[in-house]
Amino acid sequence: MIDERYLHDWSGTRYGQPLSLEKPGSVTSLAQWLKRCNEDGSPVALQGGRTGVSGGAAPGDGEHILSLENLREVISFDRQAGVIVVESGMILADVQALVEEEGWTLPLDLGSRGSCQIGGNAATNAGGCRVIKYGNMRNMVLGVEAVLADGSVIGPPNVLVKNNAGYSLTQLLVGSEGTLGVITKVALRLVPTPPVRLAALLAVAPQIGVDELLRCCRVGFGESLSAFEVMWPEYVEAALSEKADVRRLPEGFDGMRAVLIEVEGQSETAIGAQLEEVLSQLYDKNIVRDIVLPSSIKDGQALWAIRESVGEIQRDIRPYAGFDLGMPASQYDAFVTAARSNLESTGLPIKSYFFGHAGDGNLHAVIGPCPTDDVRACVEAALYDLLPAYTTTVTAEHGVGRKKKSMLGRARTQADIGAMIAIKRALDPKNILNPGRIFDL
Ligand SMILES: Cc1cc2nc3c(=O)[nH]c(=O)nc-3n(C[C@H](O)[C@H](O)[C@H](O)COP(=O)(O)OP(=O)(O)OC[C@H]3O[C@@H](n4cnc5c(N)ncnc54)[C@H](O)[C@@H]3O)c2cc1C
Repeated sequence: MIDERYLHDWSGTRYGQPLSLEKPGSVTSLAQWLKRCNEDGSPVALQGGRTGVSGGAAPGDGEHILSLENLREVISFDRQAGVIVVESGMILADVQALVEEEGWTLPLDLGSRGSCQIGGNAATNAGGCRVIKYGNMRNMVLGVEAVLADGSVIGPPNVLVKNNAGYSLTQLLVGSEGTLGVITKVALRLVPTPPVRLAALLAVAPQIGVDELLRCCRVGFGESLSAFEVMWPEYVEAALSEKADVRRLPEGFDGMRAVLIEVEGQSETAIGAQLEEVLSQLYDKNIVRDIVLPSSIKDGQALWAIRESVGEIQRDIRPYAGFDLGMPASQYDAFVTAARSNLESTGLPIKSYFFGHAGDGNLHAVIGPCPTDDVRACVEAALYDLLPAYTTTVTAEHGVGRKKKSMLGRARTQADIGAMIAIKRALDPKNILNPGRIFDL
């Protein structure tokens, strides 16, 4: 019997009954097992921490699950250079904690940090809250080791910052969602830990676009700005009702879009003064209507808890439809208004929550409950039918997996998809690795 938790990812959707669960403890045994699967033409479902929301890690009928959870050793840590090589099953939070003890930071940060794995982060090219400053996972990965479908092992992971010797197989595997190879080791480029990190919550004045506030913060804070997260009022209200430990927000936040910003720097005095100066200008110019400036680390964490309540909000509207759109911040407000109007005209008894990593143009929405396929289709149409009028992608950070497969043609051309299929066929001719994810062959 395979434990129920291996049968789906965070979205909760099941796609069928797998045949077996394999948890190799070494790359050698993994490679031998995969070689046999390839010889038999047996399909394999790759699993990291199963916090993905695109259905990529969820096994289908007749698939063999390959879990990476037993590959979790640190291979090397160059404390001088700030480069760590870990096995792909290591949990993100564990790597973050380990390097921070030595004055280094892995700037990738997601709400799922306690469960997602470094291999899953690489396979999905994870984004998160600090992309505005540090880029996404792709920018932090120097190299990977991976087992290809036929059991051959490519690697060891590159650890050099500059290495132009041939094609970058690493960058091909990052974001390939388990369809081209099993990532077994990852070399990560770290940054020195910033001594000070301060957060603030801003109520955006009704007449101001999110993009205008973003521009002001980028100009005002420059390189110090490390996060810019937007939440529409319904999201903030739902988050506050979930988190008993978060104090109420001032009245100025009622009915307003809220933006959580974070700034980093070398000195508490300097960064505190910059924060105060820029925010008072924004207030005086009526760009923000109210501000919460935490007076302690605990207060700052409470502000982040509002943004990170998405898990609880989703739980209350399951089964929900999740959206991971990418668009310029200048289109956010018009898109959300149009989407809301479309949703309202469906007449469905649903709740919708809009939020996102606005600093890098990533707009999320969770909408539900969608108890039937018809309701889900109606909700998806309300948003996706708007896309041609906007400059969008259907997935900014979660990946295509199974759920966004039918949407791929809205974000990529037929020539793009044809090239992707040619690469897949070259590396996995029997289509055993995560078949039916990203596209059908
Ligand atoms: C509360 C919450 C907050 C989140 N916030 C963010 C966010 O801010 N930004 C963001 O980008 N995502 C976010 N996510 C989504 C998710 O956490 C990320 O996609 C994460 O990178 C997935 O890692 P995982 O180890 O759980 O992978 P899984 O879910 O197990 O797998 C994801 C995909 O990668 C493949 N895969 C996994 N491991 C490997 C491997 N070793 N080799 C090859 N392929 C592999 C799987 O087959 C699957 O296709 C969030 C999820 C939750 C639940």
